[in-house]
Order: sequence, then structure tokens, then C-alpha cells
Amino acid sequence: MSDANRIHSGDGDRASTVGDKNVRRRKGRARKRHDYLRNLLQDLTPGERFRRITEDAMCIGCGLCQSVAGPDRIRMRLVENLSERPIAEDELDEETVARIFRACPGTRIEGLPERLVEQDSGYDDVWGIWRRMTKAWAAEPGVRHIGSTGGVLTALALYLLESGEVDCIVHARAAEKIPAFGERALSRNRADVLRAAGSRYAPTATLVDIVEILDRAEAAGETIAFIGTPCDVTGLRNLATEDPRVDSICRYQLAMVCGGFMAPTALYRFLADLGVERDNVKSLRYRGHGCPGATRIETRDGREVEKNYLDFWGEDDSAWSLPFRCKVCADSTGDAADIAVADTWIGGAPSWDGQDADPGTNAVIARSSAGENLLARAVAAGYLATGETLTPRDLDSYQPHQVAKKRAVWARFVGMRSAGRIVPDVARLRLKPLARSNTPVENLAQARGTKRRCLDGSNSEPPPKPVD
Ligand SMILES: Cc1cc2nc3c(=O)[nH]c(=O)nc-3n(C[C@H](O)[C@H](O)[C@H](O)COP(=O)(O)OP(=O)(O)OC[C@H]3O[C@@H](n4cnc5c(N)ncnc54)[C@H](O)[C@@H]3O)c2cc1C
Ligand code: SF4
Ligand code: SF4
Repeated sequence: MSDANRIHSGDGDRASTVGDKNVRRRKGRARKRHDYLRNLLQDLTPGERFRRITEDAMCIGCGLCQSVAGPDRIRMRLVENLSERPIAEDELDEETVARIFRACPGTRIEGLPERLVEQDSGYDDVWGIWRRMTKAWAAEPGVRHIGSTGGVLTALALYLLESGEVDCIVHARAAEKIPAFGERALSRNRADVLRAAGSRYAPTATLVDIVEILDRAEAAGETIAFIGTPCDVTGLRNLATEDPRVDSICRYQLAMVCGGFMAPTALYRFLADLGVERDNVKSLRYRGHGCPGATRIETRDGREVEKNYLDFWGEDDSAWSLPFRCKVCADSTGDAADIAVADTWIGGAPSWDGQDADPGTNAVIARSSAGENLLARAVAAGYLATGETLTPRDLDSYQPHQVAKKRAVWARFVGMRSAGRIVPDVARLRLKPLARSNTPVENLAQARGTKRRCLDGSNSEPPPKPVD
């Protein structure tokens, strides 16, 4: 790794040592960011302020606010746009809403905590902090097969449980009530972990009871590991700044690299085109059981429908129908995770030919020393196999959509800000230097387009009305 690749520091800086001057500059910037949100929302009641997160379409439905406020005050509900959104069941006070704004991954997004950044870690504007980048896959062929890509996250979960390093994995599986969605899973053994393998490309409130999980783990003297989307990890890292039990109890935070999930309205359109009404879905496996494996739907009236992953997602990201928070996602590369895991298809999508012969290979980014050591132990224990070493430019070739989005987010935030919308407080995500790699015309187009869609309502959500 060249010296130019080694470093880490605040959001706007490309590469510098963390001196007093930078600390002062960072504090000044943080104050300015906080001032923006404070001034924007100061005339609203706490309840109105909380609803703005949803109405400005920055809620991704992680459920963390329910856990922070307590389910008697906020509850995740199915709402009119068929997403899960938090509904205040009771009057909210200033302090609760302030805590939610500090924890919510729609209002605060930060990269890897500084205390986890080593002086000799690698640094890349797009891919963030890293200590090791490698191809890898689950060493057990069965795990590799059922996993979404090469089964790395499932293999890490199995290693952590079966080695006794943690007592429980908090992650996601197919939801019982709405089988197309995901729901929070607690896995304590191999069968639980295998049941949760695969990607859920749908609303998944992974953090809906995380505070209660910490309460129970603390009482029982147990430890956990967390697997989720990057925004889930962002929420958990945010919570850790208020609740020290996150770091003492949750030993690892692992994420997939994430381009976003299918907005439920688009998902149900896709199913309707296949002749499957939403109440008739008995199970939906988005991928896995191969790489990527078929998108497979079972209906309550006994039909089985299989489509190719490319039928579901299209051949490139222009066909994606994403929630707005995903379109302006600053942390989709899993910047804050100990380990982030991705696909390795050149160009970002599989080809039509050869899918049956692809055993599945992940790109793995170990960001912290804890993540790097976990990777090494899982390999030594025979749970993971590793392949060639990767570079950030290899990652670019697998994830061109992530590169494009990372470069666009700063300008999109400018557009949101000029439309008077909630813009998350962002730190250590390099958005400004990335925007400088675009031409001014490109940045202007991103900012104007986002502003226009904020003002005409397309980047907004109606006040959430429960339908469940
Ligand atoms: C919404 C979404 C978008 C994605 N976008 C990209 C992308 O743009 N580029 C890319 O390279 N890869 C993307 N992936 C990741 C990719 O699909 C694989 O999940 C990743 O490569 C890990 O593969 P694996 O074989 O190790 O996973 P597995 O071994 O199958 O393990 C997956 C783990 O993730 C957990 N999980 C699955 N879905 C969710 C969810 N919605 N919320 C929380 N936890 C979940 C499961 O509980 C399981 O523990 C995305 C995944 C998701 C869920
Ligand atoms: S993103 Fe999560 S914490 Fe934020 S409002 Fe939505 S459900 Fe609540
Ligand atoms: S794209 Fe970003 S906001 Fe959307 S699910 Fe992935 S990590 Fe969360």
C-alpha cells in the first residue's frame, strides 16, 4: 500500500494527520452542520420534528427510534405507501426527539469511528478506511451455495457462534407476517443462522428492539454480533455514542455493501406482473441458493414462480426503483462496519450466461483491526476461504453504481438543503472531495434535479398513515 493510500481523518479532508488544527476545524464544521438542522426545525413541535424525518423521505424503516423511545411511544407500522414507518403513539417530548435525531441513520451518518482507525490503515475516497481487501467465500460448499453471494456473512456468523466468541447474532430473515419483507432475527445456533442467509431486498426493521436486546444481554452477561445494512450499522454506531453497552456487548458490526432495496410499491408491481397479489405471497427468496440464484416466490394457493435476478433488478441500476434515502445514501459502502462484504460481478450485475456455474465469491473489506483479526480467525478455523487480494480500484469495477452514487451525494445534499429539507449530519465520509471529482456542470445538475424533485414532492412521503 503506498503512503498516499494511508490515512484517515475528517469528512472534508483528503489526507492529513489529525493535528490540533484539524480537530478545531472539524469541531467548527460539526457545529455548522448541527446548526443547519436545529435552525431548520426550531419552530416545530417535537412530534412535528420527528415526522419530518419520514415526510422528508429520510426514514429507511430501521426501527431504531421505536427502541430508543420505547414501543409504548413509537411503533413501526405498515403505512399507506406499503413501507414500515414509525408512528408516534403518544406525545413526544424534546429530549426523546433529540435522542432520536442523534441516533437515526436518516439524520446522522458517520464513517468508521476514529478510535477504530489505525495509523497504518488504508484510505480511499470512495471505499473509506480499510486494512484488508480480499476475495473470499464460505469454506463449506453448502453455506457458500445458500448464501447471497459466497456466504461470507453467514460463515462469519457461524464461526462467531460456534467458536463461542459471541452468544447471539442480531441480523435479519424473511418476515413471518409480511413474507416479502425482512424482520429482525436473533440467531443462537447453526439452524437459526442458515435460516437467515440471503439478502432481503425489502423493508427490514433490524434495529426495532436493539435497546431491549442490549438490556437482556447485559443482564445475562452475553455478547452479540450484528449483521445489517450499512444504514443499520450507522444507526448502531450512532447509538453507541450515547449507550456504551453497544461497544461492550456488540463485539462486531458487519455489513453488506448496499445499493438499496426495491421500494415496496415497485416490488408489488413486479409481483402483480407475475400474477401474484401481495396477500398471496407465502415466501419470497430474493437470491441465494446459487449466485445470484433465482428470485423465487411461493404463493398461498400453491404456485411456485421463479424469475432471474436480472428480471427482478434489471441489467443496470437505471431500472432500480429505490426509496429516496437510498438514492442519497452516504454510507452505502458500509464505511462504519468492522467488515463490509460485496458482490464481485464486473460492472455490478451478473451476466445472463454462466450464472449456474458461478459458485459465488464475495469481496471483503476489513476496516478495523477487530474486523481484520476476525477474518483471519475465521479462515484459520476453516469457516472461510480467501482468494486474491483486492484494491479499491477492483472494488470500483465490481460496484460502479456505488462509485457514481458516492460522487453524487454531496451535490444531492446541496439540492436538498436549498429545498429546505432535512440533510443528515455527515462526518468522515469524504463527500466533498468526491464531489470535486465531478465537473461543476455535473454537480449542478445533481443539485438542481434533487431540489426540483424535493419541491415537486417526488422526493417526499405523505404524513404516514397506518394501514395495518
Ligand atoms: C438491500 C440490499 C442491497 C444490496 N446491494 C448490494 C450492492 O449494491 N452491491 C453489492 O455488492 N452487494 C449488495 N448487496 C449485498 C449482497 O446481496 C450480499 O448480501 C453480500 O454480498 C453478502 O453476501 P453473503 O453471501 O456473504 O451473504 P449471506 O451469507 O447470505 O448473509 C447475508 C446476511 O445479511 C443479513 N441480511 C440480509 N438482508 C438484510 C437486510 N435487508 N437487512 C439487514 N440484514 C440483512 C442476513 O440476515 C444474513 O446474515 C445488497 C444486499 C442487500 C440486503
Ligand atoms: S430511519 Fe430508523 S430511526 Fe430514523 S425515523 Fe426511520 S425507523 Fe426511526
Ligand atoms: S442504500 Fe443506504 S439507506 Fe438504502 S438500504 Fe442500503 S445502506 Fe440503507
